[in-house]
Amino acid sequence: MEQDADNKGSIENEKPADFVRTIIKSDRQSGKCGGKVITRFPPEPNGYLHIGHAKSICLNFGIAKEFSGRCHLRFDDTNPEKEETEYVESIKDNIRWLGFDWAEHLYYASDYYEQIYRYAILLIKEGKAYVCDLSPDEVRQCRGTLTEPGKESPYRNRPVAENLDLFERMRAGEFEDGSRVLRAKIDMASPNINLRDPVMYRILRAEHHRTGNLWCIYPMYDFAHPISDALEDITHSICTLEFEDHRPLYDWFLDNLPVPCHPQQIEFARLNLSYTVMSKRKLLELVEGNHVSGWDDPRMPTISGLRRRGYTPDAIRKFCERIGVAKRDSVIDMALLEHTIREDLNEKAKRVMCVLRPVKVIIDNYPEDKIEEFEIPYHPENTSMGSRKVLFSREIYIEKDDFMEEPTKKFFRLAPGCEVRLRGAYFITCTNVKKNGAGEIVEIHCTYDPATRGGDAADGRKVKGTLHWVSASRSIPIEVRLYERLFTVENPNADDFKEYLNPNSLEILTSMTESGLKDAQTESCYQFERQGYFCADMRDSTAGKLVFNRTVTLRDSWAKKK
Ligand code: ATP
Ligand code: MG
Repeated sequence: MEQDADNKGSIENEKPADFVRTIIKSDRQSGKCGGKVITRFPPEPNGYLHIGHAKSICLNFGIAKEFSGRCHLRFDDTNPEKEETEYVESIKDNIRWLGFDWAEHLYYASDYYEQIYRYAILLIKEGKAYVCDLSPDEVRQCRGTLTEPGKESPYRNRPVAENLDLFERMRAGEFEDGSRVLRAKIDMASPNINLRDPVMYRILRAEHHRTGNLWCIYPMYDFAHPISDALEDITHSICTLEFEDHRPLYDWFLDNLPVPCHPQQIEFARLNLSYTVMSKRKLLELVEGNHVSGWDDPRMPTISGLRRRGYTPDAIRKFCERIGVAKRDSVIDMALLEHTIREDLNEKAKRVMCVLRPVKVIIDNYPEDKIEEFEIPYHPENTSMGSRKVLFSREIYIEKDDFMEEPTKKFFRLAPGCEVRLRGAYFITCTNVKKNGAGEIVEIHCTYDPATRGGDAADGRKVKGTLHWVSASRSIPIEVRLYERLFTVENPNADDFKEYLNPNSLEILTSMTESGLKDAQTESCYQFERQGYFCADMRDSTAGKLVFNRTVTLRDSWAKKK
């Protein structure tokens, strides 16, 4: 739907103007394409989407929204061997989850196979395409280099009639896979290698996820893509920088075919993120080699992985906005992504207490069967989030590392003779510890001061440490999964990338949390005080066994570790 001129001004001013939006604005002002803006997001269904795709999704769908245009979802399914319906479904699901909608504009390049084929025939008839019998290796050898021109194929000047006949027989299945190809007749001496008679069609007997065995020839991406764009009336075909050198070919096909329109290809820099890999081939290797539990493993940079980890669509969109859109390649620090989710969850997540690595504390002067209830707010600033009741008893758990028998100088938590605050409850002082045969502490004995109820001393005395805790008898066990980065080095993008996998990227704990969490819905997010943000795992968490993933720590502890 078109918007009126007044409305246009205000909406277009809202977003920071990156160079893509600047081009689109000026196209609209000059009335190009009647002011229409139609973009597309064209994934190949050969893997799950990753955070890099999110950048492209936010850009394409975002622009369509801002300019009252539309964005198509088109599956670029021209590689039958690697594509699967599972990927199609996950991609649709991910885009919807990110908050975008293609409405009725869902397309597949394979829907256009017949039309693409007819366009190929047209090029043959005009002497602009020919069937070449060189083997794939020979085609490669004749291509030349950046400094040397290519060699013309001996089949380049085949008569049109022979080309038509051979191409039809290619489709009919008369020839072996790989025995012939259809090539565009452009220029073997072009300084741009993409224009040196590129392959348009290959013979391949592979079952396609949509067309089954209907075809045994498949168009190449460079031929199918511009045609698909044009058939859908795309105005701006936004892609990543590696396609810059393909643009002359994109334009050549459209200039030489009677297509309904000629979209403008615009290239932007892809997202690279430190400490991870972002090629689908590498991600697939991690999945197939069982280095992770699947495409949606919470350590994966996939949208499904990030979602399971506890990332929100808001945070991912915000991240994409922050990194911006530019023409030059760069690597974004993973810490920025983590910072963005931390900021988002800081506002949204309820605070609760969970003791990750419990040790028992016995409060000797607290009555044995007494249970008290403390009302503790869910959020320190946002009172509208309300509060919950936390049960207190004589035996509680605290974190193992919140206690030191011989405290170091700067240790302000619990130690013999020291007094600390139990968050929202009482001050306690450690009197002694009990150890097992192996010398491990099994019980910490304390006394509490009844005059500190609610966590503040009536006499105004202060303590340096505040600990989180749970009642031993009134808490519930949960499985907690702590993650570190999947790779140990900033740039693991070499061929031997698996050498850099972090062996400690997953740690599984049995932890104790407030009983109020027993009904936690999957995907709900909490801040476990002092420990980070956690989210109930959407795959493995059940009412009988709650599993929480740590989305992110409260602070950027990685920086310190280095
Ligand atoms: P990969 O290199 O991970 O295999 P791809 O480019 O082959 O990715 P496609 O399914 O073809 O994956 O990508 C769909 C769209 O997403 C394309 O327009 C592509 O340019 C864009 N895209 C892919 N990776 C990134 C990235 N890291 N940053 C931004 N956009 C990306
Ligand atoms: Mg691609």
